Amino acid sequence: MTSKRIAIIGSGPAGLTAAIYTARAEIETTVYLGIQPGGQLTTTTEIENFPGFAEGIDGGELMANMQKQAVRFGAKTELTSVESIAQKLDGIEIVTPANTQLFDAVIIASGATARYLGLPGEERYIGRGYHSCATCDGFFYRGKEIIVVGGGDSAMEEATFLTRFATKVYLVHRRDSFRASPIMIERVKKNEKIQIVYNTAITQFHGEDGIESVTLENTVDHTTRNMKIDGVFVAIGHNPNTSFVPDFVAKDELGYLIPLSKQTALLSTLSLEQQHEALDLPTMSQIPGVFIAGDVTDRVYRQAITAAGDGCRAALDAQKWLENERTPNYA
Ligand code: NAP
Repeated sequence: MTSKRIAIIGSGPAGLTAAIYTARAEIETTVYLGIQPGGQLTTTTEIENFPGFAEGIDGGELMANMQKQAVRFGAKTELTSVESIAQKLDGIEIVTPANTQLFDAVIIASGATARYLGLPGEERYIGRGYHSCATCDGFFYRGKEIIVVGGGDSAMEEATFLTRFATKVYLVHRRDSFRASPIMIERVKKNEKIQIVYNTAITQFHGEDGIESVTLENTVDHTTRNMKIDGVFVAIGHNPNTSFVPDFVAKDELGYLIPLSKQTALLSTLSLEQQHEALDLPTMSQIPGVFIAGDVTDRVYRQAITAAGDGCRAALDAQKWLENERTPNYA
């Protein structure tokens, strides 16, 4: 019997953990590394909350280690992004700019991309004063003054969290009201370390080796001013990376993929046997044999460790599915 083949799309903690599990289970594993191998963690500096690293570990090093571990068990890697996936009669087809291949199962672990402000030249400040993850990088701002940009729940949560470290947090929002939930806004307003700056946008960063100051523009009268600051955290949302996923695969209103097990309306139209299978394989999408893991399906936790755990779950589900007969299409 020829061995089963699985493709894993994404090389963040979800994808590489899945690869460690599937390769170790002797399933022929190909990891599509994508255009940013290692995923979002490679844009942070030190990771201090991934269990097992008492002194912390550099984000890039952690991801390189995970990749080595997957390769040690025989996983192959392809340094390319995926253009499309499609279900065919004899498997799941993956198309990349370089080639087209068929697999018996696929795990989508393509992550989400934090939105940045889009200021000219902002790339050089990412990880050097300019951050998108308070839990990852907040600790480095003990005793410092920082800006958080955004007006949603993430901005409220991050601003509140960052007051554990920073002496002062300026919450800069482009309008005069927040879209965040009232309870989160209330918490921010009660926090003496947070100063809300409404109707304001950052238009420029300044500094040689990192952010030293920013230009702020009043969005109503367009006056500008310079402000000295140690760091800027953006919390203006994430975009799940799903451009290659067929449109019929269910997504929530923010574009995060929804596994079949959570699609109550669709589930109720399936036979009891199919419903049991869907519930027994909680990470499977409505394309049989296609599983989803990590930030591409998680709008809530978005942590390295939760993504890694998710990758493990998807790998075990895929393994179980590959051991059984193929099932009909639910789409
Ligand atoms: P969000 O609700 O979409 O809010 C994004 C915020 O960023 C908005 O205030 C928006 O301003 C602002 N923004 C967007 N683009 C911007 C730009 N280019 N420049 C300046 N500001 C910009 O995103 P989120 O806060 O990440 O939340 C996403 C989802 O996760 C929500 O459903 C949220 O409830 C949920 N969430 C829940 C919790 C919790 O319950 N603990 C925590 C975090 C997130 P405008 O308002 O002007 O559009």
